[in-house]
This record gives sequence, C-alpha cells and structure tokens, in this order.
Amino acid sequence: MNKKVISAAVAIALGSITLTACQHTPKAVEAVQQVSAEQQAQLFSTQFIEALWQLSPTWALYSGYHKYDDQLVIPNDLSRQKTLAFVAAQRKLLSKIDQSKLSDSSRIDLTLIENLLDSSEWEVSTFKSWQWQPSQYNVAGGFAQVINGDYAPLEQRLSSVLTRLTSVDDYYKAARENISNPTLEHTKLAVMQNQGALGVFSDDLIEQAQQSQLSHEQKAQFKERVLAARTTITKHIDWLEKLQADLEENGARDFRIGSELYQQKFALDIQSNLTAKQLYNKAVDDKQRVLAEMETLAHKLWPTYFPNQAKPQNRQQLISQLIEKLSVKHVKREDFVSDIRQQIPELEAFVNDKNLITLDKEKPLVVRETPSYMRGFAGASISAPGPYDKKANTYYNVTPLDNMTEEQAESYLREYNHWVLQVLNIHEAVPGHYTQLVYANMSPSLVKSLFGNGAMIEGWAVYSERMMLEEGYGDFEPELWLMYYKWNLRVITNTILDYEIHNKNISKEQGLSLMMDGAFQQQAEAEGKWNRATLSQVQLTSYYSGYRDIYDLRTDYKAKQGKDYSVKAFHDEFLSYGSSPVKYIRELMLNK
Ligand code: ZN
Ligand code: ZN
Repeated sequence: MNKKVISAAVAIALGSITLTACQHTPKAVEAVQQVSAEQQAQLFSTQFIEALWQLSPTWALYSGYHKYDDQLVIPNDLSRQKTLAFVAAQRKLLSKIDQSKLSDSSRIDLTLIENLLDSSEWEVSTFKSWQWQPSQYNVAGGFAQVINGDYAPLEQRLSSVLTRLTSVDDYYKAARENISNPTLEHTKLAVMQNQGALGVFSDDLIEQAQQSQLSHEQKAQFKERVLAARTTITKHIDWLEKLQADLEENGARDFRIGSELYQQKFALDIQSNLTAKQLYNKAVDDKQRVLAEMETLAHKLWPTYFPNQAKPQNRQQLISQLIEKLSVKHVKREDFVSDIRQQIPELEAFVNDKNLITLDKEKPLVVRETPSYMRGFAGASISAPGPYDKKANTYYNVTPLDNMTEEQAESYLREYNHWVLQVLNIHEAVPGHYTQLVYANMSPSLVKSLFGNGAMIEGWAVYSERMMLEEGYGDFEPELWLMYYKWNLRVITNTILDYEIHNKNISKEQGLSLMMDGAFQQQAEAEGKWNRATLSQVQLTSYYSGYRDIYDLRTDYKAKQGKDYSVKAFHDEFLSYGSSPVKYIRELMLNK
C-alpha cells in the first residue's frame, strides 16, 4: 500500500528539511491560553502540520498537500539545523498544554507528534543515515508525484516543476558533501535508483511541456533545466560508481546497525509495549507453534494428495512436498485480475453474515489494473485517498501478468496460488487494509491520518487473515490453513531475520537458511528478502509486532468482557481509534 512509498519519502524528507516561518506561530498559540486544553491541542496540531509542510515540502506533496510543490530542499547542514530548531520550538509549545485535561483522541494525537519530534531529532543527531545511506538522495520521487498528479491543471504543475528544477544541482552537491563512510549496499542502491531517476526527466516530459500552454520563454527554460538535471544526475552517478568501486576494493561500513541503535529505532518506529528482544522471543516461540500446526495438517492431507507414496520422515520434507503439490492449483494468468475482482464481494458477504465488523457501504473499493507509472513490480496494493482528498476512490491495484515470461508467470501464480490469493485479498482488501483505511478516514484527526502507526496498519491486515479463518472463512479447509500458516510463518520469520541480522550478526548463508529451510521459501524470494533486510532496519518487524499486539489485546479484552464479549464490538471499537499505536488503543479499551 501507499504507506510504504510514503515512509521512504519521510526518511528523505526528515533528512532534508527546509526553512520554516515557525517563529511567528508560537504567538498564535499563546494568545489562546484562555481557551480549553482541547481547543489548545487542536490549534497546536494545526500549526504543527502547517509548519512541518513548510519544513518538508516533499513529504507534504506525498501527503497530498501541494502548496510547496515548487520547493526542493537542499539537504545541507543548514537544513539539519532548521530541523533541530523546529523540534525544539514545537516541544516548547507542546509543554504548555495540560495533557491531563484532554480527550483520549487528542492525547493520542499529541503523543504521535511527540514521537515524530523524537524520531526527527534522533535521525539527524544520532542515527545520521544522511551520512551513510547514499540512497537517500534522489530527486525523482517528488518530481514524478507532481508530474503524474491530477490535483491541478498541467500548466500549474509544470510551473512547479520548472521552479523545483533550479535546486537539483545544489541538492546533489550537498548530498556528496554529506556522504561519509557509507555502506556498499546503500551505495549500489543509490546508483540503481538514480539511473531510474533519469527516466523521469525524459524526452516525453520535455515534449509534454512543449505541447502545453506554458509561455514560449517557460518552454525554453523547461527544456534547458530538464537537460541540466540529466547532466547533474549523470555526474552524480559517475561519482557514486567511483565510490562503489572504492568500497568494493577497500571495504565499507557494515549495513548492520548493531544492538543499541536497533533498540532505539525499534522503540521509535514501532511504538509497542514490548522491547525488540521481547518481540523476538515471541516470534521464536510462535515459529515453533506454527511449525507444529503445519506438521499436523500435513499428516492429515498426505493420503489425499500422495495416496500411493510413503510419508517422508523428515518434517521439513513432509510439509514442503505438500506445499509444492498444492501450489499447482492456481488461477489462469489471464484471469488474475478478474478473479480478484470477483472475490471482494464474497469477502464482504462473509464479514456481514458472520457479524464481524460494520462495513461502510458508501465507500466501495474499486479494483483496477495498476496504472503504468506505478508498476514497479508485479503485485497488488491499495491506493487510499489521503486525508486532504477523502472523497476520492480507494483503489485495489492489481498488476496483470502481461509482461512476464511463461516461466515467471507460472512461478508467480504458484506463489499466489488458489489459497494464498484468498489470504492476500483478505490482507489487502476486506477486512484488511481497505476496511481499516475506511475507518481511519472517518476519524476527524488529521494527525492520525498523516502520522499513523505503521505497525498498527500492517498488524491489522495480518491479524485479519487469521481472524477470518478462525471465524470459518473457507470452512476450515486444511489446505487453506496450511497455506495460511506458510504465509504467517513468513511474517514471523521476517522479524527473526531482521533481529538476528542487526543484533546477532548472522551471515547471508544463515539468513537464507532461516527463510528457505525454516520457512519454505524459494531461493529467489529469500534472496530478495535478504537484500531488503540489508537496506532497511526494523521495518520488517512491523507486520508481526502489530499482529502480535492486536491478538494479545483481543485475548485480554475477551477475558475482561467475559460473557458480554462480542468480536464485532471489539473490531468496531478497535478501528474507531484510527491508525494509533496498539499500545494506546490497549489503554483505552482495557482501562474503562
Ligand atoms: Zn501452473
Ligand atoms: Zn500490508
């Protein structure tokens, strides 16, 4: 879903923040000291968001706020000082609000803002990824958003692009001054992604401007600046390639961030009651439990699928042979999109019949083929309207398998076989991401929509998979459960892998074995995941941590409600708090 794209942008935006005019906003808040704490909190949040967008125009435009589209922040020391000044000024304003007098919703909003301030400061002063992750520097994303957006007439957007282009050269100069002792992995990624960036400044873009209503002078400038941007990026790629060669020859910084930074990042990003270590221990236990369940199911299914063949003695072989056999059942490649389209109403009917969650009939989900500019890789994702555009459609983007070879399509379809495709639709659509986002958009809090907790969002989608099966979706078919467990084991293993890489220093061989021998993954899938784990930290744990926290909350809630417990009441209340960290929802649901 969109959130992933956004969080990448956030990382860039936080590292590169612009001048703000927040000096005059404190007065506005002070002037209303007479009003209630609740109103004060509202005012504070409103000025906070406006000041943040001035500081980070690229983050703003990714969030659907387009006032500062023409500005590209130069990621230099000055911009980092401005970020720290912003953090200090906002903390001072926050300290003047008496949080004990606030509604639950406003208190959570302020806690999310505090966390965001802590996170920004930590990023600049402690984590310093602006030094060692060259991949943070790439101008393409913001430009592509403005060029492809449909929120304003073409000429207006091209004018923004025209002004924005004037900063590209300074941007990359600052990037080269920042980069110091980088990892090889983030350097390689920077090369690859900046090569991709050249595609945004294409002849087509120049042609688009020439055909537009821009003035003659603007058209000439446009062409000149796009060509200059290409030259700048090409020069930057050359510089990166020399850097890469040097790192390959002389060694580079380890991509593992080590235990201390990992614990800190986990606390800031996940916002769970658990520490990283506690979550890791739960994942290790869950893995054993899931494997035992899979073994039981495999024994049950074996005679049906291998009537004349002796069962392997080895658990690993027993389960993986069954998975392979079952994976052969999948939709035809040309039916991939239509089959998904067909499943959504079936999932909705199940949720309604079983009384699981109140679904909003006013906001239908539109299943569509992924628009071409969004097609990076095959797959399915949700595009939800941002908080500035709540009335827009929610799309379920499904990429047809047109561009795959026979072999690639077959492998992909086996992965997303008959059973896994259903679990995927639960996760992405109903009652997973789509249903959660409809609820989140009903909440009037802009803060929760903009700075929602990723672990809660992913955790809900993962939780909903299991919940649906437990409620009888698929009629307790053992094949569906076995495939579900394979999928769930992947989520659990992501947490174990991420933790062990950064805290236990495991090698690539150990990591691949964890995924292939330990979680029934194919080589290509495992290699891809390993690469992702070398480039990000903590993010891979968000799915499991959110899921674990929600599931544990439900267990405690159920015990507390006793005979009054209703799963629908639990879901409706849980979702009504918007995308808040589960630990705050827990407080609200258990302490009243
Ligand atoms: Zn096939
Ligand atoms: Zn998801």
